[in-house]
Amino acid sequence: MREIIQIVNALPERMLLPNARGSKTRVFVSSLTPKISSLKLLRMEKLENIPVKLDINVIKKKLHMDRTGDWDLDGALVETATAVIKPSAVYKVCYVEEKLEDEVIIDGISFKSRVLRKNLEAVGRIFAYVVTIGKQLEEMAGSREDLLEKYFLDSIGNVALVKARKYLEDQLRSRFALDGVSFMSPGSLGDWPIEEQRPLFSLFEGGKAHIGVRLSESLLMIPKKSVSGIYFPTEVTFYSCQLCPRKRCDGRKAPFDKKLVKEYGVGTAEGP
Ligand code: SF4
Repeated sequence: MREIIQIVNALPERMLLPNARGSKTRVFVSSLTPKISSLKLLRMEKLENIPVKLDINVIKKKLHMDRTGDWDLDGALVETATAVIKPSAVYKVCYVEEKLEDEVIIDGISFKSRVLRKNLEAVGRIFAYVVTIGKQLEEMAGSREDLLEKYFLDSIGNVALVKARKYLEDQLRSRFALDGVSFMSPGSLGDWPIEEQRPLFSLFEGGKAHIGVRLSESLLMIPKKSVSGIYFPTEVTFYSCQLCPRKRCDGRKAPFDKKLVKEYGVGTAEGP
């Protein structure tokens, strides 16, 4: 049974059969055996001890130190940080069951977002994920008195987290034969607010990410150095940044695109 589930989950998107409610894989799965699609645990996988290599030059660039030169990052600090991070991820293969107006039902759970709904127009299978580097680096930063050192450790953590998420992305691409993927995270756009962390976490059994990540009452993830969201197959890569008008952001991955804002209907061309 486990082998069959793994084979079905690994099928490329184009080989899945659509049904009336928009869920492709369920039809395929149920044609094999009605019991398979209910074996939720087999659709979830943990990736532990994710290899993350931190390049001091990349971190310096991220901190714009290649331009300033007034302050320097000690290579020993990068090594210390590397030694304490614990990058891990969990993902779950989920199915889009219904596509409503500005809302999608995934594995029986409602997600309200016009942008997500539009992005999942031709998608039947998504990958809910949580990635973390653990709490140790955060604790180490908290224990340091030197503000600059705190800042460096925090920045190193951000770089490590992005690398861990990229590792998960590469794993998804190869395991599920995905040509292209994009992701969205609750809270990254006004259209998909932070409150949507609740339904996202409820996709995981017991509402826990199973890698030591939990939601606080204010819906922030604990440990802080964690990210969550949904990966979905795409032909053209989508970046939430394209719809985000924020002017100064070190994390920007793509320029703000007024045309796309209009296309998605999420606000004026000045911003959502
Ligand atoms: S520009 Fe920055 S704030 Fe806006 S979506 Fe991208 S990373 Fe997030």
